[in-house]
Amino acid sequence: MSITPLMPVYPRTAFRPVEGDHCHLIGEDGRRYLDFAAGIAVNILGHSHAGLIGAIQRQAEKLMHVSNLYGSPQGEHFAQRLVDLTFADTVFFTNSGAEAVECAIKTARAYHSHAGNDHKYELITYKNAFHGRTMGTISASNQEKMHKGFLPLLPGFKYVDFDDLDGTKAAIGPNTAGFLIEPIQGEGGIRPASDEFMRGLRALADEHDLMLVLDEVQCGYARSGTFYAYEQYGIEPDIVATAKGIGGGFPLGACLATEKAARGMVAGTHGSTYGGNPLAMAAGEAVLDVVANDEFLAHVRKMGELIRARLQQFIGNYPELFEEVRGRGLMLGLKMKVEPRGFVAHLRDNHQLLTVSGGDNTLRVVPPLVIDEGHVDEFMEKLSAAAASYDPRGAM
Ligand SMILES: *Cc1c(COP(=O)(O)O)cnc(C)c1O
Repeated sequence: MSITPLMPVYPRTAFRPVEGDHCHLIGEDGRRYLDFAAGIAVNILGHSHAGLIGAIQRQAEKLMHVSNLYGSPQGEHFAQRLVDLTFADTVFFTNSGAEAVECAIKTARAYHSHAGNDHKYELITYKNAFHGRTMGTISASNQEKMHKGFLPLLPGFKYVDFDDLDGTKAAIGPNTAGFLIEPIQGEGGIRPASDEFMRGLRALADEHDLMLVLDEVQCGYARSGTFYAYEQYGIEPDIVATAKGIGGGFPLGACLATEKAARGMVAGTHGSTYGGNPLAMAAGEAVLDVVANDEFLAHVRKMGELIRARLQQFIGNYPELFEEVRGRGLMLGLKMKVEPRGFVAHLRDNHQLLTVSGGDNTLRVVPPLVIDEGHVDEFMEKLSAAAASYDPRGAM
């Protein structure tokens, strides 16, 4: 037998982390790595946050899982806090981002079905989007590399160029249910949508009675410098999928919706065995305790501006490697002139700095949100040393 016990769907690195220490990971070989990947924008409090660990330990001793058949004081409390902080009136908890997007898709369809419009099932989605790996969420993306081997896709998605308002307008038809979009594309290469585009989508949704569904799984939860990215566009969505940072590393996601948008999501229409379990709620509340305040968000913006300014200055020294700095808050991307994966490996293996590659030749910089200036110095030192020693042709 040559297949590995772990299904070989990831090209895993030789680096094997075994322990976390705040913003560093420690490998099996005992070496310390500066973690500016944060589990792909997940570990927003770093790896050993006492508040998060304590909350999980205390809840684990009390009650980990009960069925959603029962009343949930833990779920009600956390949902109420999210409702108070956002556009939303109601919350469905999930265990992952893809499940949060699935719930968002179903909520948008049910909105129209509830009014007797079963034919309004189609969501307009955007090229190079990433919404997850379930059949529904790969069908919502035009990225063929995720489709190969898994056809046929689910019907009900129409792909339009990102940030193209005229293209979106032209794509609206009798079957349109709404728009599904990442306000800042993550996996696609850290690309923020323009203000005009996001406001235009809101206006189109209002005009045609369509659902504006945001996938904030990566850009949401303080990452972009506001609690949710939509706040920076001066609009309110109808439905938001959120995950990654919300659990700080504990598997948790949520679908947020207004009362109007959720009118079709009545008893029996949706469910999850684990979704919203007491352990996940305790983890979620511990993360929220840290991030949902102005001081924390100001810290994210300040660190983001610091890294951005230093990157901007730095890339001028290596015009053959880097093209531009993109993103908002601590969701930053370095667009490279070469394939970024070799450089990500060079950073990791030779300089003990963890980053992630993304689409459009982008190197993603998505550190824990609790970094301080010392971590930024360490990041810039490692990055500078790596750029000085990198030969893209020899892949090192
Ligand atoms: C990561 C991601 C998802 C999928 O989340 P999973 O937890 O891996 O299912 C969906 N949408 C966006 C924008 C993401 O970045």
